[in-house]
Amino acid sequence: MFLPAIVCMTVYFMLPAYKPTITAEQLKKGLASVSRQLDCYSVRKWEYIVIHHSGTKSGNAGEFDKFHREKRRWKNGLGYHFVIGNGDGAGNGLVEIGDRWVNQQSGAHVGINKYNRYGIGICMVGNFNESYPTRAQMASLFVLTQYLQARCNISSKNIILHSDCKNTDCPGANFPYDKLFAQALP
Ligand SMILES: [Zn+2]
Repeated sequence: MFLPAIVCMTVYFMLPAYKPTITAEQLKKGLASVSRQLDCYSVRKWEYIVIHHSGTKSGNAGEFDKFHREKRRWKNGLGYHFVIGNGDGAGNGLVEIGDRWVNQQSGAHVGINKYNRYGIGICMVGNFNESYPTRAQMASLFVLTQYLQARCNISSKNIILHSDCKNTDCPGANFPYDKLFAQALP
């Protein structure tokens, strides 16, 4: 069901402040890797990138797809556009591409129409009320976000958390939004 388009990145961030220590060279390599695998999909208009956690210790796109299809009864399945694994259920830092990205369909991840329609949903596997994202996850998120921002012309202020648009604790109290994305400004 999912294309075997999996992006492995080897760039790192320092914990716990998550100041990006990614070098220009690493970013360039990461972006080249993402581009190779995502450039083939044409994109429609997107305005936001919305970051989530899965709220589960482990998981992967296939599991969440099954849950969304069978329990939530969403005919398009997986509500997110991308899932970033944490090493438990999917590779650590692995980016899985959902069918909704391949088909450029609205997501089902926010609970508010505007953000589902124009928001690219990225799910980080884990429960960040209880733990932290891994360095590899943050690195992949950073590079993926950089790529999507440029590709879809999304401003940095529109890289938001689920809790920014809805009354929810997603993606968890420990999610290190901080200045990460401000520093990623082009
Ligand atoms: Zn969420």
